[in-house]
Amino acid sequence: MTQYNWLETIDVSEEMLQRTNQRLPVIWISALDCTGCKEAFLRSVEPTTLDTILHFISLEYSELLSAASGYQAEEHKESIFQKYQGQYVLAVEGGIPQSDEYLMIAGKSVREEIIQAAKHAKAVIAFGSCSAWGGLPAAGSNPTDSVDVRSIIPEETPVALVPGCPPIPEVMIGTLLHIHFHGELPELDKKMRPKAFYQTTVHMTCHRKPFFDQKLFAQSYDDETAQKGYCLFKLGCKGPRAFNCCESMGMDRCIAAGFTCIGCSEEGFWDKGGFYPKKRK
Ligand code: SF4
Ligand code: SF4
Repeated sequence: MTQYNWLETIDVSEEMLQRTNQRLPVIWISALDCTGCKEAFLRSVEPTTLDTILHFISLEYSELLSAASGYQAEEHKESIFQKYQGQYVLAVEGGIPQSDEYLMIAGKSVREEIIQAAKHAKAVIAFGSCSAWGGLPAAGSNPTDSVDVRSIIPEETPVALVPGCPPIPEVMIGTLLHIHFHGELPELDKKMRPKAFYQTTVHMTCHRKPFFDQKLFAQSYDDETAQKGYCLFKLGCKGPRAFNCCESMGMDRCIAAGFTCIGCSEEGFWDKGGFYPKKRK
């Protein structure tokens, strides 16, 4: 059961909730991505994505989620740049290829698209480890020469990183809602992540930590030690080094499902084993 209260976490009072502010315009540009971040975005329960879209944000452009497509969608995006100059949020998903041949949108490279959209945005949010750190496209030999979003936009652009592969839906929505209600980005840590969501490691709030403290470790995923819910450290759990709120929110995520934390919110996680954590001795 969730212990998460979004109103408390992003400091929204009942009175603020009653105000009928204009919804926050959002333009979502997808670079080299697997669509996982958008899939996650659709699955928030606190508040629901539906409530968020109907009441608080106006998702003006997303290749996957917009009803319009092709010229109609592109024209609409251009009109938002003008109409909401300095007021819209640019959400970026995926690593950005430096070489233009890898991804074009309506005749423009995705890199140019992002640079243009960031120019007049109120803030830029990098959704997912790919746009935050380079992620999967930048892993290994990085054949597309992909980079994170901060590498291509001016340093002074207000930007928040919301890493994870994918990020937690409530964290994506919580970050947007903070901007909607407070008019600015939430407080960030030194890695530019919203502090409210990334201030502790998964380990510090993990429900299996009492087993860790007693040195009771699962030896495999399907023996008696696993059935007893012992700590997954020996199976390669990366919770001690992963800053995220999966466990503190009390939602059923990787560790609750019986799998190790894979540290998907950390820089370079694909090069450190990705989805395949190595067992420890
Ligand atoms: S961060 Fe993960 S889920 Fe999101 S686009 Fe990259 S690979 Fe997909
Ligand atoms: S399962 Fe992972 S995060 Fe949880 S206590 Fe064990 S090592 Fe820490």
